[in-house]
Amino acid sequence: MRKGEIAIKASRYIVQIFFFVLFNIYLFELIPHIGGYLSILKQIDLRNFPLPIDFDSQYANVANAFTVMQLMIATLWFPALTIGLTILISIIFGRAACGWLCPFGFVQDLLRALPAKKVKVSQPVNRALAEIKYYVLLFTIVIVSLFALAEIYDIKDLSKALGDFGKAPYTTLSPSSTLFGLIPVMIVERKFIELGDHIWELFTLNRLFWLRISILVFAIIISIYIPRAWCRWFCPIGAFQAIFSKYSLLGIGRKPARCLGEKCRLCEKACPMAIRILEEPWQKIRNRECINCLLCKATCPEGAIKIVFP
Ligand code: SF4
Ligand code: SF4
Repeated sequence: MRKGEIAIKASRYIVQIFFFVLFNIYLFELIPHIGGYLSILKQIDLRNFPLPIDFDSQYANVANAFTVMQLMIATLWFPALTIGLTILISIIFGRAACGWLCPFGFVQDLLRALPAKKVKVSQPVNRALAEIKYYVLLFTIVIVSLFALAEIYDIKDLSKALGDFGKAPYTTLSPSSTLFGLIPVMIVERKFIELGDHIWELFTLNRLFWLRISILVFAIIISIYIPRAWCRWFCPIGAFQAIFSKYSLLGIGRKPARCLGEKCRLCEKACPMAIRILEEPWQKIRNRECINCLLCKATCPEGAIKIVFP
């Protein structure tokens, strides 16, 4: 590995690990369940630290902006600040949050590193599947709006039918909140241990639990074989940013004089979002799928990829 490549990859891992810990600090609630040499950690009580976390919340981690948006709409508040900030960040940094901050993106990057043969998806199929995430976004907005309308017009049957799902539909189903919220909460509340004594009771858990586990397993398996498959095709948070990121100030450009072109394409092989970099304008990639991860820059042996701002 070249020096530049190591520097980019190492900095990205450091940032990703930092945000992984920050966004999922609730996982440290698992500490009392750790044994052996690590048992000294049991003395730490995170509730004594000034952390922006509601440890009793079912969402159980630092709420992401998209969860806040859903909950605010459902409780009849227009999330102007959250929407405004997300748009502003997307216009400045594009989808860099997906590439550098998202903990589930980090998990997918780790899954990509597993030694499994990757599945090649053709560009037309990839493009068609990438549209799904916009429908997930639309579905989420429709459900929270229905929930809000049910509250405004006091349609009790509808709000009861939607339940907690209506307040934050995507967060309720997202593999990220299942992995970092639901499962740790169940461990902390010793649900699995209780169930271990009566294993058949696992099957009595409600359908929503099994739906969440199925989505998580699906997301994990697909991301082993197709890099960042969840980000590419299903995540509405990425979709929301993608609407504004196409013309973001921060981006990636290519120096044609240095680029080896068709006979190389190493940058494209490294790109987790399957972007055909050589077919993009060399001045700046105008692809809303780009997550500014810089893996193309890290990989290019000719130093032909550059960061562009604005
Ligand atoms: S890796 Fe670098 S040299 Fe190779 S095709 Fe990509 S930009 Fe060109
Ligand atoms: S084009 Fe480069 S920066 Fe953008 S997603 Fe692909 S590898 Fe990452």
